[in-house]
Amino acid sequence: VSELRYDVTAGEWVIVAGGRGARPQEFIPGGAFPEGLPDWSATCPFCPGNEKETPPPVLSLPDPQQPDRWLVRAFPNKYPAMVPDPEPAESTGGLFQSRAGTGGHEVIVETPIHNQPPADFDDRHLAAVLRAYRERYLNLTARPGVRYVLPFKNQGEQAGISLSHPHSQMLALPAVPEREERRVRIASQYHEQTGRCLYCDVAREELATGERVVLQSEQFAVFQPFFASRPAETWILPKAHQASFSNADDLDALAAVLGAVLRRLREAFGDPAYNYVIHSAPPGTAEQSYHWHLRLLPYLARPAGLELGTGMWVNPFPPEETARRMRG
Ligand SMILES: [Zn+2]
Ligand SMILES: [Zn+2]
Repeated sequence: VSELRYDVTAGEWVIVAGGRGARPQEFIPGGAFPEGLPDWSATCPFCPGNEKETPPPVLSLPDPQQPDRWLVRAFPNKYPAMVPDPEPAESTGGLFQSRAGTGGHEVIVETPIHNQPPADFDDRHLAAVLRAYRERYLNLTARPGVRYVLPFKNQGEQAGISLSHPHSQMLALPAVPEREERRVRIASQYHEQTGRCLYCDVAREELATGERVVLQSEQFAVFQPFFASRPAETWILPKAHQASFSNADDLDALAAVLGAVLRRLREAFGDPAYNYVIHSAPPGTAEQSYHWHLRLLPYLARPAGLELGTGMWVNPFPPEETARRMRG
């Protein structure tokens, strides 16, 4: 049994398979964190003592327990997908358009401990990581030519990491990605028609229905949307309307729910690899045309030819079942 579900935020159909039961043996087994790693590695450029292996830091947050040591550190990526360009060139048109890769690409090392999984960070540590995201987000969005900044994290080999030391990345782009542009357009039309924020309404419905809610706090709703495109795709969304992550003020509250979600994911699904991304209103977007949220995308099923060929996601495990597992 399967059904098509409409993602009202993206304007896309998703195939959600149902009635199979989320059998644990069908999930891709654990891969968020390799076993048996040392807590320090002489060859890891992200470990303390090897700071000279990376470009000079743009941010360094001290460890409150040992103020002479860093807890979180950010620097430009040595192998950037995008680099700052003082004189950005424009595309020339025709069939083969291009643009200078203006922007920025930074690495945020989340811990000085080589083998410390983010699910084991305490809330204050996780809040420091989130403060680093916000600080670098503000810095990068203020750069000339930057139209969109994406904080994201890959954890586990299947999720695309090249170094196992826990780290995140910030990508600053000279254009708003088309999918994000469409989300903004859809939310903006919805606001024109109803006077309300689409994401506030989706969150309110999810909380009212309850069957896809993972947890909630005073400030945040955590749910797996009706139209989840990936197994156990989980959204963390501020309950009070806020378009941009740059205005997120209660990062301690965000850290508390993010830590809880990472631990529940590990318990419910045996430590799968995952990505998470923070989607935010592109700078300059009208306040009611977006609502920032963190989207956690566990790697529990492999995308196949159908996804690649149609661009349509097949989610083999309905969010009602995966949310129930994560509620425990
Ligand atoms: Zn390391
Ligand atoms: Zn909203």
